[in-house]
Amino acid sequence: MDADALTARAWCELDGAALAQNFAALRAALPAGCRMLPAVKADAYGHGAVGVARRLRRLGAAGFCVACAAEGAALRRAGIGGEILVLGYTAPADFPLLHRWRLTQTVADAGHAAALAGCGRRLRVHIAVDTGMHRLGFAADDIDGILRVLACKSLKATGIFTHLCTDDTLAEADMAFAGQQLAAFDGLCRALAVRGAVVPPRHVQASTGILRHPGLKYEAARPGIALYGTLADAAATARWGTALRAVLSLRCRVAAVHALAPGEGAGYGLAYRAAAPATLAVLTIGYADGVPRALGGGAGTVLLHGRRAPIVGRVCMDQLFADVTAIPGVRAGDVATLIGRDGAQTLPACEVAAAAGTIANELLSRLGSRPARFWKEGLP
Ligand SMILES: *Cc1c(COP(=O)(O)O)cnc(C)c1O
Repeated sequence: MDADALTARAWCELDGAALAQNFAALRAALPAGCRMLPAVKADAYGHGAVGVARRLRRLGAAGFCVACAAEGAALRRAGIGGEILVLGYTAPADFPLLHRWRLTQTVADAGHAAALAGCGRRLRVHIAVDTGMHRLGFAADDIDGILRVLACKSLKATGIFTHLCTDDTLAEADMAFAGQQLAAFDGLCRALAVRGAVVPPRHVQASTGILRHPGLKYEAARPGIALYGTLADAAATARWGTALRAVLSLRCRVAAVHALAPGEGAGYGLAYRAAAPATLAVLTIGYADGVPRALGGGAGTVLLHGRRAPIVGRVCMDQLFADVTAIPGVRAGDVATLIGRDGAQTLPACEVAAAAGTIANELLSRLGSRPARFWKEGLP
């Protein structure tokens, strides 16, 4: 661990070897030569976009997916090369950013294409195709609309893609819908070719799509959450993510330890009440660091001395309480783990997320900027 972590209040420990293992596992499930465009949006799901992108470039990522132009510009300012695809809508006011930072913009629809084409600069774009999610994209049967983008002199289409929206369950209707989405996308690409168009590199699969459908032969892929060592929930992770290893551990310190007599309370609203003599540890992390407030009242757990302790009372903005009555010898300065391993115990992100009523993607992407990020191997 970095020496600075020894004095930190709350920090994320990042494991570059785990990131490399996850990248290799995903690449192994894809055809040889498939271009990897990892999703590093939302600060690489809370892991720190620049550190993650640097490592993935070294491992062979062809480029990256981000949510907005500002995220792409931040990567470029840090010297990140490769294609950077903005997945979300960019408003005309931000078109100059696309050109200045050599970003590739997703074309959301015909109106967006016209605006991009008219901005006075030649821009690189990927064409989004809506095969049923109804988020962004040209309708899969809008062959003429897509041909117009491909023929447009001021737009250089370097990709065409769709996104699967029911791919992470085994429910029959969901699997059938994913099959329809794939068929619609393949049908569109065939129709474009029949009409004489050169179909740009195609990509469909995000994390689950790669792990579930290793037989698909598209030219690129967009893995996100799996790179970080988990899938959205515990069921999907157990089914398709067993080769993955968690990259991030979230840790903090014990600030103080209090002995409570029966009937005494702790925290806002005295929402915790000791039923019997109890020992509470006050921890140096709170909801402003990304620990969901929903983990209070016994819903969540922390690890201390390799054992589990429930989070009790209301989670504060910067601190929280753990009931360590059953763990002798806890003292100020001890390290507590919110996500990750301590001794024989592990709190995987997908389980912590479930305890808070959400998925690993949301938990990780909402980790605040306040906890420092430390790569275990020490490189920046
Ligand atoms: C976020 C996102 C991804 C990555 O998804 P994961 O499920 O995290 O792998 C891929 N494609 C699009 C369009 C996305 O929005």
